[in-house]
Amino acid sequence: MKSGIPFLVAVTVANGSACAQESRATQSVSVGQDVLAAAASITRADYLRKISVIAHDSMGGRDTPSPGLDATAEWVASEFALLGLKPGGDDGSYIQRYAIEVVRPDLISSSAEVSGGGALRFGRDLISPLGAEEGDFEGEVVVLSGSGEISPDLVADIAGKHVIVVSMPRGLDRDGRRFATDLRGSGALSVIVATDRPDSEWERGVRNISRRTSVRVGFNGARGGGISLEVRDRAIEPILAAHGVDLRAARGRRDAAVMEVRGLTLLLSPRLEILDRQLAPNVVGILEGSDPELKDEYVAFSAHIDHIGTGAPNAEGDTISNGADDDASGTTAILEIAEAYASLETKPRRSMIFLLVSGEEKGLWGSKYFVENPPVPIGQVVADLNADMIGRNWTDTIVAIGKEHSDLGETLNAVNRAHPELGMTAIDDLWPEERFYFRSDHYNFAKMGVPILFFFNGTHGDYHGRDDEVDRIDTDKAARISKLIFYLGYEVANRVERPQWNPESFRQIVSDR
Ligand SMILES: [Zn+2]
Repeated sequence: MKSGIPFLVAVTVANGSACAQESRATQSVSVGQDVLAAAASITRADYLRKISVIAHDSMGGRDTPSPGLDATAEWVASEFALLGLKPGGDDGSYIQRYAIEVVRPDLISSSAEVSGGGALRFGRDLISPLGAEEGDFEGEVVVLSGSGEISPDLVADIAGKHVIVVSMPRGLDRDGRRFATDLRGSGALSVIVATDRPDSEWERGVRNISRRTSVRVGFNGARGGGISLEVRDRAIEPILAAHGVDLRAARGRRDAAVMEVRGLTLLLSPRLEILDRQLAPNVVGILEGSDPELKDEYVAFSAHIDHIGTGAPNAEGDTISNGADDDASGTTAILEIAEAYASLETKPRRSMIFLLVSGEEKGLWGSKYFVENPPVPIGQVVADLNADMIGRNWTDTIVAIGKEHSDLGETLNAVNRAHPELGMTAIDDLWPEERFYFRSDHYNFAKMGVPILFFFNGTHGDYHGRDDEVDRIDTDKAARISKLIFYLGYEVANRVERPQWNPESFRQIVSDR
């Protein structure tokens, strides 16, 4: 679980009554003997054996990136191989690697070409206020001007073009970053704000930006979206004038307008210097479904293998944060669930993806990379069931976050009712104000339109501390939650209809985000 706003809620009480009420049971979710037997392969002893490997001191707290994290990923991959899963990583392996780079703008290597003459130079005339931009951006130029209301039709004219903003129409957020993001979201190749800053201010800004390092994660050469830049009036004014556009007149306009600048194209090539580059792993195993058609759809099961590494010693001299609950507990659940499905003679109808990501604690890095570089089209992933911290707190309930956002919530309730023998009730989100929905790896799936459920036992006093150790894990509880997720995944994989978003949730989380 990634740190967010401070935790104000001490979790000490169970709440078994929050289970959503439904007027009638919907579909039968009973399963055959083979499925019950597969679930029975998930045992407390097996769970303890696996979590003890992942949360062992030798893994060093599994920081991203670190040798201990790589060792954990290799071990998980070896478990996938034993189960006979199909590799879903790079080059026929189970491991998908993404780059973590420390970068800085390289103004000397950056270039700007102006069609038909005229020159722009990075640093002197042009700068990216965000710093970390790289790529080659070639296209026609439009000028956005006016102080009046901007209409959606006008914004539609900017797709694939460099947009030189000489004045800010109403309706665009006045916070520079935000409006540039909006225009880039509308397909602008670049958003170039023309500025008349005095020399000293410009030069100070360039100095600051050119020294600023940032961390770039998961860059693989293919860059989507546009860039944000600032250009000095004195540099762009003569170029626009040569193409019949008077910058000052445009700036003085009342009505918002997008003007074409005929015959002008720009090739902007900002470059970065890479100061450090390391790789971090995700582990991906696939179990093929048994239905000739539905097997092209996938149910994803996810957890994060990384944790926060080491820190200052505690009273006992322990420096390693082993993250047994966070999230060796979820990782172990995914391994146990994968093993149970792999043991089935007849596999579920849909295929399944078992995904252990890294970089969660640093900002959901691995899951973001995975959904942007998936081994199968992301639209064919019908659900993500994520487990992050499932081994602590109360013994007979687990919070399932996201139940209200799709019919997965109802499916979970039905599956849960069919398995009273588990002694485990999946309850609704107890802490909506903590926004946990947005704070673990499932959120990257949700943003891409994949319905999710997130299994989470809440935080505790050992959260991100040196005492989140295996001996404090309730392995019996974690094994029962693993079985519940196993049964849920089985049901989701076999239903004819894929899970459906609630329309209002889809609007808020996916389409209007
Ligand atoms: Zn965490």
